[in-house]
Amino acid sequence: MAKRFTDTEKYKKPFFRSLKAPYKLLWDYIMTDCNHAGLWIVDFEIAQIYLGEDIKINKEDALKYFNNDKERIVEIEDGKYWFIPSFIEFQYGNKMSKTNNIYPSIEKILIKYDLFKYLDIEITDTGITKSSYRNRISKKIKEKIFIENNLTCQYCQEQKEVNELVVDHIIPLEKGGNNEDLNLTCACIRCNSHKTDLDPEDFINRSHDFLNPTNKLKGAIKILKGTNNPLLGGKDKDKDKDKDKDKVKDKEKEKEKEAQYINLSDANKVKLTKEQYDKLIYDFGKTATAKKILDLQHYIINGKGAKYKDHYLALRAFFRRDGIEPFKKEEYKPIQKQEITEEERQENIDKLKELSKKCITGKILKHEVGKT
Ligand SMILES: [Zn+2]
Repeated sequence: MAKRFTDTEKYKKPFFRSLKAPYKLLWDYIMTDCNHAGLWIVDFEIAQIYLGEDIKINKEDALKYFNNDKERIVEIEDGKYWFIPSFIEFQYGNKMSKTNNIYPSIEKILIKYDLFKYLDIEITDTGITKSSYRNRISKKIKEKIFIENNLTCQYCQEQKEVNELVVDHIIPLEKGGNNEDLNLTCACIRCNSHKTDLDPEDFINRSHDFLNPTNKLKGAIKILKGTNNPLLGGKDKDKDKDKDKDKVKDKEKEKEKEAQYINLSDANKVKLTKEQYDKLIYDFGKTATAKKILDLQHYIINGKGAKYKDHYLALRAFFRRDGIEPFKKEEYKPIQKQEITEEERQENIDKLKELSKKCITGKILKHEVGKT
């Protein structure tokens, strides 16, 4: 018996809500009956038996309803199998590691039927290390960055074809940079390969003939290397001078933080910010998190809680102590971060195609933009 994730919001989502009852059941059945790569052997006779003869289903209507507004089912081998792209994205997340035990067998199936093109997932070589972190910039983000920069390398100002451009971390990951928009820019392969893990300022001051950084890039570097930059912990030269100032700031920050703590009515001694709370729920689920919060409250009330300076870290330590791993190995994304919608993505793809046509090199794109 295999265990699978199910979406607790499923019944509230427009697609599912709009289905007639028999097809809701059928969708659930397919999600349960398909194999680990999201491939379902199409057999409506058997499906009808399992679902019950009192609700009639048929293949044509199923396809019509399921693929009404988007391709949720891909028919392969002349309809012998149905492939459900969202299955893999949902079950394994949109970043799949090759080190995942199940990956090789999924890959085999995806290659055999040429299904990678239907997926919007990133395949990484390792687990969550810095190099895989780099890989985890989705196609959607790449497209957005390329458009924002008009297919122009920000280091040399040359406009290039999509396949000659990469998304560059202005502050390299190795130097503490991250995947925030501000730290991402568009670079050509040449500039990127010369930059490697250099500090961006050091790099643009080098004597390469091709270097011609844009003001936009220079501005971003300035902000990124500013004193209050959260991307660069402990790297500022002026830090020692400003130590006292920092202390005052820290106290202010603490006060600010105090105001940010959420009201946990059953556990009012436990101090967590909304983001920390959300993160715990994301990693361990609501019930388990609530239980651990109550445990911590109990410790604090009984006078044993003083050693827990940071309640968030204490709660995570509780989970670790009990051998409970976070659900997903993906990086936590704050909820307020805007997702790129399908419509926006389509717009981006259209813009990219338009831009590519105008691209000064005048060459035709070697690979299709937006194809996943
Ligand atoms: Zn360049």
